[in-house]
Formats: sequence, structure tokens, C-alpha cells
Amino acid sequence: MKHPAKSRKTYDAERFAQPADVLGIVLDHISQGMVVVGPDYRTLAFNRRFEEIFRLPRGAVEVGTDFRDILRSWARETGQDAAMLDRAIRELDLPTPFEFEFAQKIRGEKRWCLLTHNPIPGGGFVRTFTDITERKQLEERLLRQSKTDTLTGLDNRRAILDALDAELARSQRHERSFALLSLDIDHFKHVNDTWGHPVGDEVLRQFAAACRGELRKSDKLGRIGGEEFLAILPETGASKALKFAERLRAAVGELRIAPAPGAPTFSITVSVGVTTAHATDRVGDLLQRVDHALYAAKQAGRNRAVAE
Ligand code: GH3
Ligand code: MG
Ligand code: MG
Repeated sequence: MKHPAKSRKTYDAERFAQPADVLGIVLDHISQGMVVVGPDYRTLAFNRRFEEIFRLPRGAVEVGTDFRDILRSWARETGQDAAMLDRAIRELDLPTPFEFEFAQKIRGEKRWCLLTHNPIPGGGFVRTFTDITERKQLEERLLRQSKTDTLTGLDNRRAILDALDAELARSQRHERSFALLSLDIDHFKHVNDTWGHPVGDEVLRQFAAACRGELRKSDKLGRIGGEEFLAILPETGASKALKFAERLRAAVGELRIAPAPGAPTFSITVSVGVTTAHATDRVGDLLQRVDHALYAAKQAGRNRAVAE
């Protein structure tokens, strides 16, 4: 192996002789936006990245500009309301360091930024701004994925049970009721055994889409496991809930599934348990009741809705 060539000098030590130059070079080459503001809100220094992150036109900020004016034009450009601007201005005087993440729309594009604020003893502060949009987008995508059932695109078990917790708390706070439906495809094992697992998966997808199509936007539908689903119907009493259950049952019965392109189609049925929330219910009570109703529907011959 050849020895690597002796490293060449890559910088000119002379150029860095003046500390002021060095600071200027640092300011313009770090990936964070940075601003230094004096005790009277006068901007003492800032870098290009600061202008870029806030999409400030060149010349909008100058040494000496009142930083509150920069905030005012930022609020105008990004459509922040008066309360937000007030808060941002008040925060300039906070005597302790802080940091937070915030989102802003710049020319229709949502970007996330991490702000750090460090007061200078005697007045003023240093702030840095880091564009964290890519990380936030990844976080949002992972969060969405963690709540979604990959096969059907519906809420997964965790998400629908969380939604049930939230809906129960909300309904009890407002002394309103809501309905819970438990849906279980009939003889699904037979579908898999007869047509194969991939066709079973296709049934689950079509079933989910058909049910979603019958529900209101405010209703929630999730896959709790296998061929079992839960629907949460806010502001829905017992008789309306049973009507919804019937509608879902009918829509599912109308599905025609082709096990292969051009092959004769088959249909499926679903059993539905229906219940409504009581003032003293806990989530466990609701789930037990709706399960019981579903069991009764299965016992009575399937392809029906039973309320309890
Ligand atoms: P019942 O009418 O009593 O509900 O009978 P069933 O056959 O629908 O119920 P059972 O619980 O016996 O069978 C459910 C089947 O669902 C068994 C399992 O292999 C199948 N299953 C669970 N998850 C999936 C899935 O993601 N894809 C497919 N294709 N099948 C699944
Ligand atoms: Mg089942
Ligand atoms: Mg079943």
C-alpha cells in the first residue's frame, strides 16, 4: 500500500490572523441561523443562514435594525396573528435561556425551526435557528404509521382504542352519549381456506373501504385485529346506531369479490354488536358490552346486528 501523500496545507494561517475575520467566517459557514441582539433590541450581528431560514430578502435586516421590527415583518410574511407576535416580542426579555420548536408557513411551504435563546448578561441575547423540517416530517410520518393498519389503511388497534378513550372522556365531560360498533366478518376462515390468504386480504381491504364509505367523517373506524373492527359514532343514540349497523351490514353484503381476474365473484356477510356509552361506563365496560352483543349476533345465526 502506498503511503498517503503528506497532507497539504488546506488553509492559510495568515488569513485567520484577525479574530473578527474568523468570527465572520464562522457566522457565514455554520448551518444554524444566528442573531445577536443588544440591550436596546438593536441587531448587532446576524448571518446569511438567518436570512435564509426566514426567507428574508437581502437588506431587510441590517446591523442596527430593531429586532422587534424584524419580528413584525416576519409575522406579516408568515401570517402570524397579533397574539403570537405579542408573545414573541415579550419573549425577547426573558432572563433565562430557553428553546422551542415551531412551524411556519413560508410562501405556502410548512417549515419547522428549532429556536434557542441565550440572554447576554447585562442585556440582549444570542439566538440560533436550526431548520428541522426534515426531522419533523419524518416524525410525523412515523407517528402516522404507528397509528395506521398497513393492510386496510384504517386506524390500527392502538389508535382506535386511544380514540375510544378520548371519546368516552369527551362524551362524559359533555354529558353526551356515543355509539360503539364491533364488526366481525362471518366465516372468514372459510374465505382464506377456500380462496387463499391474499384473497382474504383483499376482502379485508374491500370490507374496510365499504364500511368507511357508509360512515360520517366524524366517525372513527379501526381494525382491532384479524377480521374484527370497531366503529366509534359520536353523538349517536341507540336507535340511530342500530340503523348505522344495518347500513354497514347491507353495504358489506353487496360487495362482490373476484378471487381472480374474470373469475366468478363471491360475497361475504358481517355480524355487528352495537352499544351506547353510559354516564358511569369505563372503557372496559363498553368493550365487554359490545363484545357480548356481537356474540349474540353470531349465536343468532350471523349476518345481523344486535344491540345491548
Ligand atoms: P366467525 O363467523 O365465527 O367469526 O368465524 P371466522 O371464521 O370469521 O372466525 P375465526 O376467528 O375462526 O377466523 C378468523 C380468521 O381470520 C382466521 C385467520 O387466519 C384470519 N385472519 C386473521 N388476520 C388475517 C389477515 O390479516 N389476513 C387474512 N387473509 N386472514 C386473516
Ligand atoms: Mg373474529
Ligand atoms: Mg369472523
